[in-house]
Amino acid sequence: MAKIILTGDRPTGKLHVGHYVGSLRRRVELQNSGEFDKIYIMIADAQALTDNADNPDKIRENIVEVALDYMSAGIDPAKSTILIQSMIPELTELTFYYANLVTISRLERNPTIKSELQMRGFGNSIPVGFYTYPISQAADITAFKATTVPAGEDQMPMVEQTQEIVQRFNYIYGETLVTPHILLPDNKACLRLPGIDGKAKMSKSLGNCIYLSESEEDVKKKVMSMFTDPNHIKIEDPGSLEGNTVFTYLDAFAKPEHFEEFLPDYAGLDELKAHYERGGLGDVKVKKFLNNVLQSELEPIRKRRAELQKDIPYVYEVLKKGSEEARKVAAATLDDVKASMKINYFDDNALIQESVKKYSN
Ligand code: ATP
Ligand code: MG
Repeated sequence: MAKIILTGDRPTGKLHVGHYVGSLRRRVELQNSGEFDKIYIMIADAQALTDNADNPDKIRENIVEVALDYMSAGIDPAKSTILIQSMIPELTELTFYYANLVTISRLERNPTIKSELQMRGFGNSIPVGFYTYPISQAADITAFKATTVPAGEDQMPMVEQTQEIVQRFNYIYGETLVTPHILLPDNKACLRLPGIDGKAKMSKSLGNCIYLSESEEDVKKKVMSMFTDPNHIKIEDPGSLEGNTVFTYLDAFAKPEHFEEFLPDYAGLDELKAHYERGGLGDVKVKKFLNNVLQSELEPIRKRRAELQKDIPYVYEVLKKGSEEARKVAAATLDDVKASMKINYFDDNALIQESVKKYSN
């Protein structure tokens, strides 16, 4: 069976380092591994509108920002297809049919939706579209017959919901859809990178992000202001790693070569952590190291972005071509789905013949 990737992001803002370690960095590795037959990367504008219906400009403006972030992080349009969700109306049609296979109580149990509803403070005014976005995500994944979805931990309930829809669809209508699997980051710190404020998740909507496109000075400012151990006051005090965002970021980003280059007194992260816990290592020194690590990771991305920004029409051309190519694939899946559901009346000669026979005597 073909190995196919589908993954994406909501164009609700520029991409941040949480996206990078949670999904984007992995996508680039998978793309360059050559192990996959097709890679689809979707800018989920229709999904973003489910909780931003009153702010279409925000979504519109961020399409190109997300595309620039993708390409500057190493997504290569010659190897991966970048598409815009709303340009593929077949996805909406699939969503409509899949909605019949999901109960309201099942949607209510989705833990990511539960916490996102709380975060957005919808109260009793939950948009139906937002509530049902796990169904539209199932349409996105299955339309491209994706086998693999590289994403952060928050996407697990979405992929589980997709698996259930596939199972139910295939059971009722016959083997048609492909069951996808999530590919989580193998590094624990990357599953759900916290915000610089120490809050549970770095998220565009919470304003606690370090963006991929941020300037060197701004990254440094944010790192120096980051949440650490509030009880680690004097350098000699023993420090705690628990909930210490600076160390979580080092877990996510630091590589042995960073120690060689920026902190050769320490053999690696374990030694640095042990010193911090023992006491005698100041937050500023650790933050300076983290800043060096982040800058060395972000500098090449920033440089590529500066180049790409000089030719914005090219970026839109990539999106248009990608969306056109993806639409053909989604249309073929929709044809299969409709045939399985027996709603392909005009393509089915047997149907006409049966009616002819019924009325011929
Ligand atoms: P929004 O607040 O609009 O939902 P977001 O910051 O949560 O935005 P999404 O576009 O919803 O970003 O997520 C895109 C991808 O990035 C998903 O695969 C998600 O799992 C991953 N991701 C987002 N935030 C993080 C994070 N803090 N740590 C790890 N992965 C993340
Ligand atoms: Mg999100």
